[in-house]
Amino acid sequence: MNEPHAVVRRLPSVSRAIDSEAFAPLVDRYGRPAVIDELRKVLAEHRERLLTASHSLDSRPGPAANGNAPAASVRELGLGALSEQVQQRLDRRRRSRSLRPVINGTGILLHTGLGRAPLAREAIDAIAAVAAGYASVELDLESGQRGRRARAVDELLCELTGAEAAVVVNNNAAATVLSLAALAAGREVIVSRGELIEIGGQFRLPEIMAASGAVLREVGSTNKTRIDDYAQAIGEATGALLLVHPSNYVVVGFTEHVSLDELVRLGRSRGVPVIHDIGSGALVDFAQFGFRDEPLAERSIAAGADVVLFSGDKLLGGPQAGIILGGRAAIERIERHPLARAMRVDKLTLAALAATLELYRDPQRTSGTVPLLRLLATPAAELRTRAERLVAALTALPAFAESFAEPEVLPGHGYLGGGAVPTQQQASWCVALSPRSIGLDEFARRLRAARPAIVGRVHDQRWWLDLRTVFPEQDAEVVGVLSAATR
Ligand SMILES: *Cc1c(COP(=O)(O)O)cnc(C)c1O
Repeated sequence: MNEPHAVVRRLPSVSRAIDSEAFAPLVDRYGRPAVIDELRKVLAEHRERLLTASHSLDSRPGPAANGNAPAASVRELGLGALSEQVQQRLDRRRRSRSLRPVINGTGILLHTGLGRAPLAREAIDAIAAVAAGYASVELDLESGQRGRRARAVDELLCELTGAEAAVVVNNNAAATVLSLAALAAGREVIVSRGELIEIGGQFRLPEIMAASGAVLREVGSTNKTRIDDYAQAIGEATGALLLVHPSNYVVVGFTEHVSLDELVRLGRSRGVPVIHDIGSGALVDFAQFGFRDEPLAERSIAAGADVVLFSGDKLLGGPQAGIILGGRAAIERIERHPLARAMRVDKLTLAALAATLELYRDPQRTSGTVPLLRLLATPAAELRTRAERLVAALTALPAFAESFAEPEVLPGHGYLGGGAVPTQQQASWCVALSPRSIGLDEFARRLRAARPAIVGRVHDQRWWLDLRTVFPEQDAEVVGVLSAATR
C-alpha cells in the first residue's frame, strides 16, 4: 500500500471523536456501539472522497488555483460538523425503521398497506393497561386456577354471534390453515372453482390448503357450481366442505352458486363438516352504510355452519386477528392441534379485541365508538363541508397561491378495501391539489416523508385527499403538512 495521503490523515480518528464533547449527546441517545458504527461509515466515505479528489488533483498540473476544495473541507470538518452528519444519518435510519403514523387520504378504509382498521380509544386503553406489566392471560383471578387462554374474548364472541365456542389466532389466514389442518389434514376439502380466491397477493386458497395438509378437491366451474357438484364429490376421503366468501371480486353474468343453507343441509345428511370463510367478519349489517352482501358472522352460525372464519381487523374494526367460531367439539379439536400454539395471539391482541367486542354489546352506538364504523357513518355532505373548509384554510395561507393552482373540492368514492367488495363504493368528497413549483410525484413523496405522513392518490394530474378516511380531528394537521410540503 502507498503511504496514506497527507490530506486523509487530517480526519479525526474514531476514538478521538467518540470520546469528544461533540459526540456525548449522540452516545446518550443512540448508545456507543450504534454511534461508532455510523461514525466509521461516515469517516470511510470522507476518506474515499478525499483520496479520489486528491488523486485527480495529483494528476493535474496546477491544482492550487481552483482545486483547493477537498483539502479545505478537511480542515473545516471539525468534530461538531462530523457529529452532526452522524446524527442526521442515525435519525434517518431510526425514522425509516420504525412504523410511523399516516393520515389516510386514499379513501380506502381497510388499506392493508396502512394497517387496516384504526383502533377504538377503548382498545388502545386496554392495550396500555396490560402492556407494561403482567396480565391474567391464563389465570382465572377469581379461583386462582390456571384457566383457558382468552376466556373473556371467547365468551364475548359467543355472546355476539350465537356460537357455542370460539378461538382467536393471528389472522384469518392462520385461522384457515389451522381449521383445515385440525379438521381435514390428509383428507379432501371440497371447494367451488369459483371460490379459489387470492387476497392481497399472499393468501391464495390453493396454497393455504396445501400448507394445511388438506387435499383440495375442486368442483363446478368458475361461474357455475351446483349442490350436485358437491354431493357427487363427497366420498370416503372427504374431510370438509368449504364455502369461501368471494370478498374481493364478483362473478357476474351467467352464474350460479350454492348457498350456505344448501351446503349445510348436504353436509349434515352426509356427516361432513361445513367450514364458512366469511372473510371480513361483519358484526353489524353493512347495508346501513350502503354495502350489500357482506356476510354476518351471526347469520352463518344461525345457518348451521360447523366452523366460521373471519378477520379481526377488517369490518369488525379491531386488531389483527383470526377468529374461529363453531361447535364445542370442532373448536376443541382446533385448539388441541399443535399449530394452534404457533398461531396464538398475545395479551395485547387479546386486550384490544376484548375491548372492541365490548363496544358491540351496544350495537346502537357502534357508529360512534368503533372508528371504522364512524368513518363509514359520516354523511357525504359532512365530508363536503370539511373539504370546503380545508380548501378555505389552505387558500388563506400566505404563499399558497404561488405554489398551487386553485384547489378543488370534487366528489370521490370510498372503498372498504382489505379484500372487501371492490365493486361497491360509498360516495365521498375530496380535496384535489395541483402544485405549481414541484411535480406531482415529488409533492406526493414529500407528503409521505412528512410527520405525520399523508398518503393520498395521484391521478388526473392532481393529488387527491379523500376525506372518507380522514378523521375530522386530523383536518388541522392536514393543513399544516400540506402547507409545509410546498416550501
Ligand atoms: C381477508 C381474507 C382472508 C385473509 O385474512 P387475513 O386476516 O388477512 O389473514 C381470508 N379469506 C377471506 C375470504 C378474506 O376476505
